[in-house]
Amino acid sequence: MYRRVIFWFKRDLRIDDNRALFEACQNSFEVIPVFIFIPSILERFKSYDRRTGFLIESLKHLSKEIEKKGGRLYCFHDEPQRVFLTLIRKYGIQAIFTNRAFSWSGEEVEETVKKLCLNEGVDFVTFNDNFLAEIDKIPYRKIYSKFYRYWEQNLRLTEVSSPERINTPKLNEPEIDIVASEISHEKNIVWKPDFGIRRLKEFDFNRYEELRDRLDIDGTSKLSPYIRFGLISLRKIYRVASEAAGQDCQFIKELAWREFWYHIKLNFPQFKNLEFQEKRRKIRWQNDEKLYKAFIEAKTGYPLIDAAIIQLKQENWMHNRARMIVASFLTKDLMIDWRWGESFFMEHLIDYDEVVNVGNWQWNASVGPDPKPLRIFNPIIQAKKFDPDCKFIKKYLPSLKKLPSFMLHDPLTHRLPYHKPIVNHFERLILIKKLYS
Ligand code: FAD
Repeated sequence: MYRRVIFWFKRDLRIDDNRALFEACQNSFEVIPVFIFIPSILERFKSYDRRTGFLIESLKHLSKEIEKKGGRLYCFHDEPQRVFLTLIRKYGIQAIFTNRAFSWSGEEVEETVKKLCLNEGVDFVTFNDNFLAEIDKIPYRKIYSKFYRYWEQNLRLTEVSSPERINTPKLNEPEIDIVASEISHEKNIVWKPDFGIRRLKEFDFNRYEELRDRLDIDGTSKLSPYIRFGLISLRKIYRVASEAAGQDCQFIKELAWREFWYHIKLNFPQFKNLEFQEKRRKIRWQNDEKLYKAFIEAKTGYPLIDAAIIQLKQENWMHNRARMIVASFLTKDLMIDWRWGESFFMEHLIDYDEVVNVGNWQWNASVGPDPKPLRIFNPIIQAKKFDPDCKFIKKYLPSLKKLPSFMLHDPLTHRLPYHKPIVNHFERLILIKKLYS
């Protein structure tokens, strides 16, 4: 039994079913819950104020939950090794408990703290809480369907309860007052911390498979920000979804996709910057700045593509089908390097997860682990199929709301009172095949 430990919150901003927090409370008399705003990461994320806004609201929520258990959340703004060095030396800390990081930047930060603990003779105790399965125990599988079979057999679904009490000693440290908003951010009016739990209760997992690709229907869970920041445990989400729709339902297969990307990253860490498929490492992307500008400014002349980009900018979220369509459009139709798209999404997505984002961009650019040699989405067919009445397009491009659907679906055949299409999809097809040959 430890006398006093730190619990380090990272991507697990909850007290319910939080494995490392539960263990910290079980195995010590006093726990100091800590969250650290890391300046080097905030600097990298500086334009993403609304994501920080969501993070701050989530921390306020977490702080109240901790107070209900008698404890107190301490937030700092500094490099973690400096924060921890002070706390260890001043307050006689014997261990730091945390849920293990698996992302590139998370691992980098964790490594420095691990070294510090080693030097200071403090235990660094980690748990795997960010996944449903023990992804590091699954034999390396490069194809999702093969991975999925092992994944199902390696699930660890036992939930832990929230700690009965959190005994936090009083510290005298220059902490960050999250209520006074000392960290620069913009209030997030779209995403609220309590929406996730409500959504989990209300969402119809039974209709997910049927509706998930429809852009004009609210048919996906919208749980991604809550998963990304750990506001709800994955085990709980799994339980609710499997009780409603069965263990083999499509929704659970999507949760497995998230873990598949981490599995690939564990076995092929160069994945962040290097194409998974060796034969696709020499593609000569055209990287035309003018085309890229039109894409990020939602002026491609393809209403579906532009509506999706506007959705991303307004809501910091984009429907999965739309993410696939725009990623295909950028890399195939515009022949722009997938890394440009990856970093554009990084800037805007509330659920931005570097491993998942890189994985999906590589997959959509046909350079990642995908048994299909080349996927090209036709933006006209996609619009007709997944936004048949143009409700999605008209929501984000209200100036087009009087135009009939057949015109909005196909800007190449019908001249619209709108931006001229920046490329002709059909003319690009021949070039794309050359680019990938
Ligand atoms: P639902 O359809 O309800 O799915 C439930 C959960 O399953 C999601 O919340 C997510 O955790 C997981 N999931 C679903 N699809 C995928 C997928 N293709 N890959 C991995 N996990 C998945 N998701 C992120 O969380 N962060 C990202 O940075 C991210 N970048 C993406 C970039 C591109 C180019 C593409 C095509 C997809 C990306 N995704 C990313 C995956 C997916 O689009 C989102 O997870 C999903 O749209 C979130 O909405 P939802 O919660 O309603 O999803």
